[in-house]
Parts: sequence; C-alpha cells; structure tokens
Amino acid sequence: MGELGTGIQFLSGVGPKRAALLKTELGLDTLEDLIHFYPFRYIDRSSIQRIADVSPDLAYVQIKARVVNRNLISVKHLSVIVEDDSGRMELAFFKGVKWNFDKLEPGRVFLFFGKPTEFNGKINMVHPEIDVPQEGSMTQGTLTGVYPSTEKLKNAGITGKVMCRLQSAALSLCLPEIKETLPDYIIRDKGLVSLTYALKNIHFPSDSYALQKAQYRLKFEELFFLQLCLLKQKFVRSRSEQGIPMPKVGPDFHACYNALPYTLTGAQQRVIKEIRSDMMSGHQMNRLLQGDVGSGKTMVAVLTCLIATGNGYQTCIMAPTEVLAQQHYANISKYLQPTGVKCALLTGSTGTKDRRLVHQGLEDGSIGIIVGTHALLEDNVLFRNLGLAVIDEQHRFGVDQRSRLWAKGAGGAMPHVLIMTATPIPRTLAMTLYGDLDVSVIDEMPPGRKPVQTMLIGPDRKNAMYKFMKEEIARGRQVFVVYPMIFENEKMDISNVEQGYEEIMAAFPLNDGYKVAMVHGQQTNEVKNFNMKAFVEGRAHILVATTVIEVGVDVPNASVMVIESAQRFGLSQLHQLRGRVGRGAEKSYCILVRDYKTGKDALERLQLLCRTENGFEIAEEDMRMRGPGDLEGTQQSGLPIDLNIASLAKDGNILNEARVYAENVLNKDPLLETNDNSRLVLELRKAKYNVKDYSKIS
Ligand code: ADP
Ligand code: MG
Repeated sequence: MGELGTGIQFLSGVGPKRAALLKTELGLDTLEDLIHFYPFRYIDRSSIQRIADVSPDLAYVQIKARVVNRNLISVKHLSVIVEDDSGRMELAFFKGVKWNFDKLEPGRVFLFFGKPTEFNGKINMVHPEIDVPQEGSMTQGTLTGVYPSTEKLKNAGITGKVMCRLQSAALSLCLPEIKETLPDYIIRDKGLVSLTYALKNIHFPSDSYALQKAQYRLKFEELFFLQLCLLKQKFVRSRSEQGIPMPKVGPDFHACYNALPYTLTGAQQRVIKEIRSDMMSGHQMNRLLQGDVGSGKTMVAVLTCLIATGNGYQTCIMAPTEVLAQQHYANISKYLQPTGVKCALLTGSTGTKDRRLVHQGLEDGSIGIIVGTHALLEDNVLFRNLGLAVIDEQHRFGVDQRSRLWAKGAGGAMPHVLIMTATPIPRTLAMTLYGDLDVSVIDEMPPGRKPVQTMLIGPDRKNAMYKFMKEEIARGRQVFVVYPMIFENEKMDISNVEQGYEEIMAAFPLNDGYKVAMVHGQQTNEVKNFNMKAFVEGRAHILVATTVIEVGVDVPNASVMVIESAQRFGLSQLHQLRGRVGRGAEKSYCILVRDYKTGKDALERLQLLCRTENGFEIAEEDMRMRGPGDLEGTQQSGLPIDLNIASLAKDGNILNEARVYAENVLNKDPLLETNDNSRLVLELRKAKYNVKDYSKIS
C-alpha cells in the first residue's frame, strides 16, 4: 500500500486522539485523504497591516507588534496589549494561557496572525497565531493556505499552522508515490500541470501563477471524471436498453398542430424536434424539459403524447397535485378536440364508478392519454401498452414512485420519459445532476406575454399596498398573498399563515364584500381543494397561502402576487411564485414585502428580482450568491458526488470544457478500451466516482 494508505496518526505530532478528531471532524483517515484536503483560501503572509488599519471587516490580518503588557484576568483568560507605530490592540487568549503568558514577554516583537473582531467597541484578536519574525528569511511573496477547520480541531491545537506542518510532512512522504491520473495526451492537449506539481502547489504555492495552474488542473480533473462517469453510463445505457421505436407522427399530431390558435415559438419547435428524434431512435428517451413558467411546456407535452398515440401507444401525464392534474386535464382536452384521441382524468378523488371506467379504458386501450396524480401508480391501474410517461415538476416524485411507473411499460419495455420542470436549473448544475439525461430548454416566451412589474416594499408600506389591492379587486382582479414556511415545526408555520389570514381578513372585511380563502399544507385535501377551487373559479378575491401554490396553478384573472417576508424565500422560488401572475391579458404586479430586519445581501437578491424576469439569469445568480447546496430542489446530498475543489457556481466554464472533452474521449473510445485510456479506467474504479444512475431515479 505504501505511504498513501498510512493512517494520519502515524504522522509526527498527531497521535490517536488528534487522528480521531481529524476523522470525525474532517473525514480524514489516511495520508492520501490528507493531501487531497485542500485550502479553501490563501493569504499573503508577507504582507503586514498597521494596527490602525485593522478593522473587523477584514478576514485575516497579520500585524507585527511589540508586547506592551500582559494581564492574567483569570486562569482561563489572558489579555495582552501590543502596539506598533500606528496604535495599540488587545489580544485575548482563553487557552494555553500559561504558555502564552510566558512567551509574550513585554518588549518582544512578534508577528500575530488572526481574525480581527470587535469587542466592547474596540478591535481585538482572539487566539492569533504567533510567529517570531525572522529578518531576511521572511517568506517573501509566499501564499499560505487556509484550511477548513472547526472549533473542536482548534481546541485540540490543530491550528492553521499545525495543519500546514502536517500537509508538508504528508506531502514529502507521499509525493514520490503519486501516480498520474490523466492520460498523457490529455495533459498535453489541455496544457495541464502534472498531478504531483498540482498537489504540491495547491498546498504550498510557489507563487500565484503556480497556484492558478494547480487549481485549474485539479478542478478540470475533478469535473472531467465526473462527466466521464455520467456520460459513460449514458453511452452504455443507450446501447443496452431497448426503447420503443415510434417512427411515425400520425394524423392526430397534425390535426392538433393545424388547429392551434397560435404558431409555436422557435424554442417549442426545436424542442419538439429533439423529442421526436429521441422517440424515433429505438432508444429509450430520458429527457428533461426545462422552461420558465408560461413558456408553453404543456403544448410540447401534448404534441409529444400525440406522437406516442400516433404509434399506437398510450401515454400518462403525472402531476404532483390534484388541482394541477385537473387543470392539465382541462387544457389538454381542449387541445385534443380536433383529434380522435380520448383523454381521461384519474386522481384520488375520482369516484368508484368513474374509476372503474377509467381502469377499463386503460386496459382495453380506448383511453389514449390519462392525466392524473399518484393515483396512477396504484397496482390496479394497468395499461394495455404504455409507451410514454410525462412527469410534471419532477422533484415532487420519489424514487420508488417512478420505478412503479416504469413497471407499467408496454411489453415490459421502459416507456419513454419526459420530465417537465419550471424550476430553471442552471446549465452547469443540470449537466451534473442530470448528466446522463438529455436536457431541452424552452428559452423563449410566447409573444404577447405582459411583463410582471415587481416592487420591493418595507412593512411600513402595507396600508398603501392594501389600498392598491382594493383597487385591483375593484377592477375585477384577484390577489395571491403568500407566506413563507419559516419554522422547522409545521404547526408554527401554519400559525404564521393563519396570523396573516387574520390580518388580511381585518383589512378586507366580509362586510365590505371581500372574500378571502386560505390554503396550507395542514388542511385535509378536501378543504384545500375546496378553498383552492373558490379562488380558481373567482369566488374568492384573495388567496392566502403557503407555497403550496408554487407549482403550476393557473388563474389568469389573478393580477397581484404579494409575497410576505420575501427575504426568507430563495430567488428561484420567488420567481416561480411570481410566474403565477401575468398569465392573463391584464397588467400584473408582484409585491415583495420585506421584514424590517433584512440584511444587505438579501436586499440585493430581492432587487435582482425587481430587475429581471429571466428565470435562468435568476437561477444562475441565486446559485452564485448562495452556492448550489442551498438551491431549491437540490440538497447537497442530492448531488451525485461531493466536489472537492471545483464549484458548480463558479467553475461553469471549466465544467463545460470538461464535458466536451469527456464526450470526445467517449466518442473515440466508448468503452475506454484503448491503452491510452487505461489511467481513466483505473481512476473511474475508485469509489468516489460511483455516481448513482439518475435516469432510473428521475
Ligand atoms: P408552462 O406550462 O410552460 O408554464 P403553458 O403551457 O401553460 O406554460 O402556456 C402558457 C400559456 O401560453 C397558455 O395559455 C398557452 O396557451 C399559451 N401558449 C403556449 N404556446 C404558445 C405560443 N407558441 N404562442 C402563444 N401562446 C402560447
Ligand atoms: Mg405548466
């Protein structure tokens, strides 16, 4: 095994106790783990701040100062005053008190390195690192890595300095054993530095240029292997798994198409072509269709279904909620009028008699398109020949629910799958999450859609807002008022909405003829549907709701979307909510109400929303600001692998390069059988690249 597999505890200065901490806190076990644990930041330790210039806004500073005096405030608290030519500062120590007391003799000069903080209106540093300045040999121009750390590690004495020492020791043991992971031709082609060089310089950069080279090499490698792994699965699957060939288009497709009251947008046409070629190919289609709210996905879904029926296969369309299923059913039935295709609806509230008829129609094949909810997944729902499943808003469906659907495919074949989502996922993230799915994007809105005017107001403007809402209601419009889910505890969240409901009821009294409905997650389906319907059918003027209305509900008459405590929502979610208005002919408004305590970053995010309606721009920005881990619909654990150095938010360009390169490699050598690619095979075998097969899950 050699040095790489050696446990960290065998490094000098570690021992079993610290080793156990490094394991639990950072997941580091062996020297190999350690050398792949990189700094997340670098500081220029050669630069020294004047005490007068130090402010708590600065991340880390280094000062060179003389000890003025030492105060033992208690056995566990040492306060040290130091000074340079510009001023004085306090340093505080709560550990190693005796040791530091002895070391910091008045009159001596040290380098202190740490994070400035503000305490009692004064600036101090707690537990700075202490160095003795070495004139001449002062590490000129060198960058020092800062490693992720935790309170526990610091308490155990594993400071930044110690971590650097460990890395240095580990590297000198391990570097001779490091084997190149990328084939020589890729290194040459991309002008990469060697892995050995990269590892050395990621920890101890000789200069900023070397650091850049090292970072690029390691990021490229990481993203390249990720893409290679995903694409390889896709290649293998498209070879092995038979899809249902659907070569025809058929008369129903044309009948529907020709009867459309509008022409398809360029984007819709392009996407339909992409879908058609998938369905003709003889391979199973696995396609994610992304399009902003209102971009016309339903139409694309209908035409896709008609390709399947045109080839003699049935289709199911799954919606996440009953209301949505009903709405889809109503829309789709309209589109189908010029065709001979029979469409039906199956949800949890379909009565026994109707249910029996639907089951029958699905079994004998007389129903061509079935729209429904999870009810479609029940075991007694049998198809004569299911050839396509369209899934709306994919993230609401769980893994086994999907696999139950696959089992219903015609003759045991996997049906084609089209997943539609209005949550714009930034391309970089989509490529990773759905690296083995094909992605189509409708990036063009149908003509004539009115922009939604978005405003950001403080809570002090609520009365003006109520007045405005009343004007809109007087014009015959309807208003959404949405509250965030704030607490972990669902009950408390509901009380939040309920309070809002009370407030709205007080401002819009029944006596004045106002009708207000409320929906939230704790209501029974029956109550929820009833209230929702009251709003959809125009009987209620205002709908007070939690984010349950986020997905797809279509009320063209609603012209105002009020979002309370808007700073608590993610940008993409706000954008989704805003998409609920602006669907009719009237001018629409989105009013973001922030709380009094809204941070600067949050304000900036909300202002972005006021500036643009482009969902992809918003999603990219959201991801840039928050990092992909927080992005709605995707938890970090939802990522196929944890990235060690690359960032999906920041390294989009490298990701693109890596993907293109991985595609090229696989096009030339799909099974990675050539000698040139033997290093790739070795690397892919490692556990970290065991990416789940997302096509089976999505
Ligand atoms: P999505 O599901 O993507 O949110 P929909 O399919 O519900 O969007 O379409 C939104 C509205 O735009 C619908 O009223 C639909 O009839 C209309 N629409 C769809 N495609 C077009 C088009 N090419 N031209 C004009 N209107 C369109
Ligand atoms: Mg829709």
